[in-house]
Amino acid sequence: MAKLSQRVLRDLGTENAFVVLAQVEERKRKGQEIISFCIGQPDFDTPDNIKEAAIKAIREGKTGYTPAQGIPEAREAISNYLSSTRGIIVSPDDVVIANGAKPFIMYTILSVTDYGKGDEVICPNPGYPIYESAARFCGAKAVPLPLVERKNFCFDVADLERIVNKNTKLLILNSPHNPTGGVLKKEDMEAIRELAIKYDFWVLSDEVYRNLVYEGEFNSIASLPGMYERTIIMDGLSKTYAMPGWRIGFAANRILAPKLSQLMINTDSCPVHFNQYAIIEALTGRQDEVARMKASFKERRELTVSLLNEIKGVHCSLPDGAFYAFPNVTEACRIHNLSSAEELRSKLLDAGIAVLADTHFGSKNPSEKDHYLRLSYATSKDNIKAGLAIMKKVIEGGK
Ligand code: PLP
Repeated sequence: MAKLSQRVLRDLGTENAFVVLAQVEERKRKGQEIISFCIGQPDFDTPDNIKEAAIKAIREGKTGYTPAQGIPEAREAISNYLSSTRGIIVSPDDVVIANGAKPFIMYTILSVTDYGKGDEVICPNPGYPIYESAARFCGAKAVPLPLVERKNFCFDVADLERIVNKNTKLLILNSPHNPTGGVLKKEDMEAIRELAIKYDFWVLSDEVYRNLVYEGEFNSIASLPGMYERTIIMDGLSKTYAMPGWRIGFAANRILAPKLSQLMINTDSCPVHFNQYAIIEALTGRQDEVARMKASFKERRELTVSLLNEIKGVHCSLPDGAFYAFPNVTEACRIHNLSSAEELRSKLLDAGIAVLADTHFGSKNPSEKDHYLRLSYATSKDNIKAGLAIMKKVIEGGK
């Protein structure tokens, strides 16, 4: 039998949200009723004006290959949006459009690390699992940066100082953060800036949840003096405009743009042609739907967190952003003699509520004893109430 590469067998990871989603679908097919808090996508429909722009583009024959980097009009709309929201000058030439923001994780790592040379990529832990998977797949070493509950799921600058070294080629930041909802503080960004300059590393700033900051305001590391030149800003339409299935994302950096674009040529050829007209409408058209969706997420955040905190053995701080709650379930696990959040997750799934466990977002940080679940509250208030009633019953109902 012809062999598979070690790269896919050993190094390539996955996104467990999709694995759990498949389990949920399988159970639903067999007739089990399940309320799902698994998937990180808005439960709203794409605003009509954006749909119409894409339909018009299809009707007008915008269905061919485009420049790999994206059409100039769409890159201009993105450069205006990035310049005004980040307070820096982003030229259309700096912008590359792709089919989702996600490809830029791999493209960036491929552009700034060499295979098997000991290059290090610092990834938030817990964190979006694709960072570690992509780093390992590209032959780099993924180094976890602990995010801690006592800092409202930001990291300790001392931890970052401890792990940065001459092999560090890239630091990945994700604010607002998946899975904890944490938002980076401006003063921490200042410390990152100093380290980035001292050790001369790149920063990939994953800002796909930029619009979903509920307390305080969004800050991008790229806005700090001297940082845009070493920061790849990654953003997209999936979360803000309820468009995950459209697959529209973009990145900006002056030096890397030609390489990201060359990677597009080698993989997807170009972003979807008619989608690029949807980008223009999304970023330059009316924004009332975006504000409505955000207000709704904010209400659900408060509902979710207050219901979680009513469950004995569970506590949850109010996340500052994104649409995730990351409750601490250590005591609930202890009451039920469970050794991990994964075991609790499985028990909850049997009872009809689907959530993710901390283990889906990286391994435990050294000396970390606590267990956490991740709930996406991008679901209706009725689902939130019914789902958390089940969770309360399972956890408080005894052994
Ligand atoms: N980055 C983070 C932190 C995410 O949570 C996700 C999706 O869940 C993505 C990137 C992918 O976004 P996109 O749909 O634009 O590829």
